[in-house]
Amino acid sequence: MNGAGEAVQSTDTSDARSRSGTVTVPSSNGAATAARAERYEPARGILSRVLELPKRLFQVAFRVVPYPTRPRLIRIGSPGRRSPVLVTTNYDLTVRRVCRALSGIDCWLLVAPAAGVDVWCAASGGRFSIESVISILKTTRIGELVDHRRLILPELCATGINLFELRRRTGWAGVFGPVEAADVPEYLRTRRKPQAMMRVSFDRKQRLEMAAAMWGSLSLRYTLFPCLAFGWRIAPWFVLLLALFCSGIALGCFVLPGKTFVQKAGVLALPGVAGLIAVLAFGGRPELLFVLKWTLLLGLAAFLSGTAFPSYSPLWPCGYSKLFYGACDLKLAVLEERCIGCKLCDLVCPVDCFAASEDRKMLFVNPDLCVGCGACVIQCPTEAIVNQVAEDHRLQTACG
Ligand code: SF4
Ligand code: SF4
Repeated sequence: MNGAGEAVQSTDTSDARSRSGTVTVPSSNGAATAARAERYEPARGILSRVLELPKRLFQVAFRVVPYPTRPRLIRIGSPGRRSPVLVTTNYDLTVRRVCRALSGIDCWLLVAPAAGVDVWCAASGGRFSIESVISILKTTRIGELVDHRRLILPELCATGINLFELRRRTGWAGVFGPVEAADVPEYLRTRRKPQAMMRVSFDRKQRLEMAAAMWGSLSLRYTLFPCLAFGWRIAPWFVLLLALFCSGIALGCFVLPGKTFVQKAGVLALPGVAGLIAVLAFGGRPELLFVLKWTLLLGLAAFLSGTAFPSYSPLWPCGYSKLFYGACDLKLAVLEERCIGCKLCDLVCPVDCFAASEDRKMLFVNPDLCVGCGACVIQCPTEAIVNQVAEDHRLQTACG
């Protein structure tokens, strides 16, 4: 579902092909309903995999670039009228990974229009919305192929799709599935979503994949600038520096000192700067320019990598206050009197901010973990979660 989410982040890159065709599913009264759906077929054979390789490499290295695939209905296995219906965005990489994770299960997959962007970014940026879901429900006529009205949505779209609003406007009940596409088969089998399926883990494999994406994007966008200052020969060195910083931050993000990624990147740059100072101290006169040039390049590569990294995982959303000061724009609080204990906030939180009290009211117990995604605020049915910053400001204004 949430293909790599995206943070969905299954790292399997096996490809999927699908074949268009009309599906006929007999209804309970014996009448047959026909609608168009594509059949998922895993790619087989070395040749087809080799032919797909450039696309796969491009998608990994330039993951920030939207890569749309056609919005459509895909049937996986031999789904029937009671088979689950899952939804994801039309980001090609996500669709391939979700299909791969679901192969072996009889289900329907709706590929909703979302500008070819992954689930997390599309939902947070308003591209994956209730309108996207309405559009794919109508154009595929999935309602004619199944007897139920339940949609399984990727958890990371909770920042953009309110379940109550979805039900009101479509008649379809939505539930949020696991964060990782790889967990969907287990979730479908047990219909349970343990803690590990709800949280973004961002393991080493995923972080390295993100490092490749970050490196590709930064190299493409910024190599020109040092070249304009120091000539074209500097290009491979700058690209190499970016690769070192991106992989260093990805591998060391949980252990490097520093509250923000700019600080962590600064720590990584320190040995290089120390080496340059040593050159200056013990080298000859021409070394001054050399040291200045490389200090500048190091600083630029560190700064670019440090500022880019937060937007590559739901664990660290971008936002300048978070980026430079480690502060979150949201300061949330749960209003106890409004909380009905439905736990929806906990179900959609990508980190682990909430815990239930003895009387089943939700408590905001880990404010330091909050990444300010807003998913809990959007999903809370009773508006029990408020932004304290806005509330304080409102009260101050009212008192003033
Ligand atoms: S979503 Fe709202 S009402 Fe439900 S448990 Fe959380 S704070 Fe309470
Ligand atoms: S508590 Fe923070 S991180 Fe968790 S869902 Fe709410 S805004 Fe997002």
